[in-house]
Amino acid sequence: MDDAGERHRSAAALAQIADEARGCTRCPLSRRRTLAVPGEGNPLSDVLMVGEGPGAREDATGRPFVGPAGQLLAELLQVIGWERQDVFITNVVKCRPPGNRDPEPAEMEACARYLDRQERALAPAVVVTLGRHSLGRYLPGSRIGAVHGRLRRSYSGQHVFPMYHPAAALHQASLRETLFRDMRGLPAALLTAREALDDERVATVQAESAATEIRGQVHDTDDAEQMTLF
Ligand code: URA
Repeated sequence: MDDAGERHRSAAALAQIADEARGCTRCPLSRRRTLAVPGEGNPLSDVLMVGEGPGAREDATGRPFVGPAGQLLAELLQVIGWERQDVFITNVVKCRPPGNRDPEPAEMEACARYLDRQERALAPAVVVTLGRHSLGRYLPGSRIGAVHGRLRRSYSGQHVFPMYHPAAALHQASLRETLFRDMRGLPAALLTAREALDDERVATVQAESAATEIRGQVHDTDDAEQMTLF
């Protein structure tokens, strides 16, 4: 598929998922929301950023990371020459937890179908996790203090770049420098992930063509044996 075709297909899939999330009633968070916040960004981006859940401004506008944490996220992207429109931004839960409390496991579970499908539509080279809950989805059991700022691989093979949540730096000033340092490492992590994925695609194609060749040889042998039979 050419670039325009792929953009159209991905944008259409993401729009469909967003429509469904806006009408979702699968968990109690839906009853208190003003607007669901499905996510937004570039439908062809190789980078998916996943936060925790909408806050007050996100709930009021239906857009992710538009409050104070979003302001810091924009500054973080700016230091590497990126903008919000260069990535796709979403959350593990699409509706605001009351009082900005942590999302509960059952809420994340109920909402996972949307993020699962967003991942499939985008097929990003790297997932950037913002905060603990997002990290837990991709690298269960790992501690943010131990894994932040370095490219990891999830059990399902996704390249994951864990970062602290920008809101954490608003409460704890010492994390600000860590966040900026980690963000500066993201372009190199993206290159590494793309190279690894390219190598894996080449290896898959080679393995498939070797298998096809072997099947052809077996077939030729069968033909030769049949010819001697008649
Ligand atoms: N915090 C998040 O995790 N997500 C948002 O969209 C806003 C703040």
